[in-house]
Amino acid sequence: MDTVLKENLVHFPTLYVVSPSLRVSQLSVMFGYVKYFSLSPSLSLFDLHHTHINTYTLTTYTYTHQVAAEAHFKIPIEGNPTLADRPGNMYSTVGEGEKNIGPSIGVHVNGINIQGPNDAGAVNVDEAGFQLMCGGHVTPPVNDNQPPLYHYHKAADCTPAFKNESIPVSHGGMPAVHANLTGYANDGFGIYAFSDVGGVAPVLDECGGHFGPVHDDDPTSVVYHYHATTYTPYHLACQGPALQQCESTQHGTSFCGPGCGGFDLCVQPGTSELSLKQYVGKWNSTWLNSFTVNKF
Ligand SMILES: [Zn+2]
Repeated sequence: MDTVLKENLVHFPTLYVVSPSLRVSQLSVMFGYVKYFSLSPSLSLFDLHHTHINTYTLTTYTYTHQVAAEAHFKIPIEGNPTLADRPGNMYSTVGEGEKNIGPSIGVHVNGINIQGPNDAGAVNVDEAGFQLMCGGHVTPPVNDNQPPLYHYHKAADCTPAFKNESIPVSHGGMPAVHANLTGYANDGFGIYAFSDVGGVAPVLDECGGHFGPVHDDDPTSVVYHYHATTYTPYHLACQGPALQQCESTQHGTSFCGPGCGGFDLCVQPGTSELSLKQYVGKWNSTWLNSFTVNKF
């Protein structure tokens, strides 16, 4: 059995595609409070349920010992920015989407769930003074149905998409390009690390997303996508496009960003207008005409 015990390391199965329309995170498992157990990605869900790891089993949640929780997600393969009900609440599932972790706003490409900018009610994680290792932490058990589970609130800055931006160029880092994909929001749109094309700051809407290419060498790679930020909401405040309506999706504390200067849609400067039209034209060729757009 290829099971490795490691401290302070999380290593989980990645997302995979189960149908033409849905992407699934197979499993996120977190054991205990102190030690994180890294499981071989080759273990199947069946194996996990029938495997004893030291004295712990995944089928028994006992708080006096190590415990485990599972997170499941189904998210659309491709987000649709032209849906009539946009913007959406950041916690909502969309279409045939599913999740079993209520506060999740998406899932990291490594399968770990990404939660909103708050914890313990409507208090922002920075405001609460949480120390977050790699942007996340393990929530202790709240009741019999909620065993502890590691999750991200902030940028998972120890993972590849972020290291690519922070490692010096002389050490192989590539900070001056559009950041790599770090996860998917519940609505199916990708969440990228900090920088935009050319390494510049992304021009984001109130949700934390924008339209623009995601590859420096392919101007036609225009999609709506989110960027992680070092400040709240860290990933997204609403499911965009924001259409200047982010506030309507907030409950209690607002995590909406400032937007791009009073426009419904925010497009990254330098984006090809033709590529933008071709992208939204997949769903609705006249959709853009209904909204104000920043100069790009
Ligand atoms: Zn971008």
